[in-house]
Order: sequence, then structure tokens, then C-alpha cells
Amino acid sequence: MSETTTGYVAGRSCEGCTMCCKLLRIEALDKPGFEWCPHCEIGVGCKIYEERPSECRIFHCGYLTQSGIGNHWKPANSRMVLALSTDTKSLTIFVDPDRVDAWRKEPFYSDIQSWARAAEKNKRRVIISQGSSVIAVTADGETDLGTVEDGQIIVGRRKRGPGGGDVEPIVVDRDDPIVDALRLVKDPESARQASPDQLAEAKRRIAEWLSRRDT
Ligand code: SF4
Ligand code: SF4
Repeated sequence: MSETTTGYVAGRSCEGCTMCCKLLRIEALDKPGFEWCPHCEIGVGCKIYEERPSECRIFHCGYLTQSGIGNHWKPANSRMVLALSTDTKSLTIFVDPDRVDAWRKEPFYSDIQSWARAAEKNKRRVIISQGSSVIAVTADGETDLGTVEDGQIIVGRRKRGPGGGDVEPIVVDRDDPIVDALRLVKDPESARQASPDQLAEAKRRIAEWLSRRDT
């Protein structure tokens, strides 16, 4: 899917892999996740490479960019695509529905548990998405989030408690205005660009939303 190899781990490339063209949702093409894109020549590449949407151009999976991720994660073999998101502060592991529960096998499972422990310290989340079934993995275990539709995303909320509190994953509609408010407050770049009034308003909306959830 990707356009450039700048910033890739040495020796890694998309060659022979098209897994993201199956597992990811591509809004511009109205392509649902977990179905092959009609423009994909499976295992070879994109048939509309020059005209492919920007979502495809800018996507670089974690296997390509993160040196701490082992070679066993190569998506063409593992059938899992690692997607790091700065706005939702998450690592989502998209799993091919034809290999459901591949993530529970070793050496993947030990990696995921170690990432979940590190994520919790950094207020991040590890999410497993395998089609209709979505699971949040934390240092303490797993939360089955049930079905997350194409038009929904997962946001995290840190609950107060001993040791800093647990992260509670919450499923919200992608077009819910709370998503913009959360992004403004949680994404350092968005927060830097916002005015003090915009930040205060976003925080007020988030507090109101959380108090409605708690009642
Ligand atoms: S999943 Fe990663 S390695 Fe495979 S085609 Fe997509 S970006 Fe390239
Ligand atoms: S348009 Fe091309 S790069 Fe984008 S999902 Fe389809 S096949 Fe992959």
C-alpha cells in the first residue's frame, strides 16, 4: 500500500504482501474492512497504484516502521497487520478472519502481552480486531468489546484507581462529536494548535459525556 520506504526498518518492504488491502477499511473506496479490495492483485500489489486513495498512500504498517517488531510479524506470513494510531493512542492488530485467533499463538501472544503492559504505562491501548470480534488486551487481561461496526472506533478512558487506574475501552460512532473533542485534548499536535477556549470547551464536553456514561 505504501509509497515510500523512508523510515522503514532496514530490509523490510511491502514486496509480496497485500494484507492491508484486505484487512483495512478504505473510506474513499467504500471498502469495508476484512474484504479484499477489488483493485488488489493479491500478493502482488495495487492495480491502480498511481491513482490509489491517500488513505492507502499514507498507510505504513508497524512491521515496516518499528524495529522492535520482530520479523515473524511480516503480514504476508502472520496474516496480521499492525496499525499504530497517534490520535486514538492505540495499536490495533488486524487479524485475517481466515486465521481467527492467530494472535493467541506464540510468539505473537507473548509480544502482545508485553506491548499491553507497556501501553498501559503510556496510556495507550492494544486492540485486536478480527472482523466482527474486537478485543482490548490490557496488562490484566482481555475485554471483549463485541462487534465494532465500520462506522465506529474505540477510545480509551483511564478510570481512577490504585496504581493509576485501568484503561476502559469504549466504542463510539466515528462521527460522534465527542471523537473530535477527545482528539483535541489527547493528540499533542491538535492540542498545540487549539486555542485555550477550544481546549476548555472540549474538556467540558468530555466531562459531560463521561458523567452521562456513569449514570
Ligand atoms: S500490510 Fe504492511 S507490508 Fe503488507 S502491504 Fe500493507 S503496508 Fe506493506
Ligand atoms: S486501492 Fe490499491 S492500495 Fe488501496 S486498498 Fe485497494 S489495492 Fe490496496
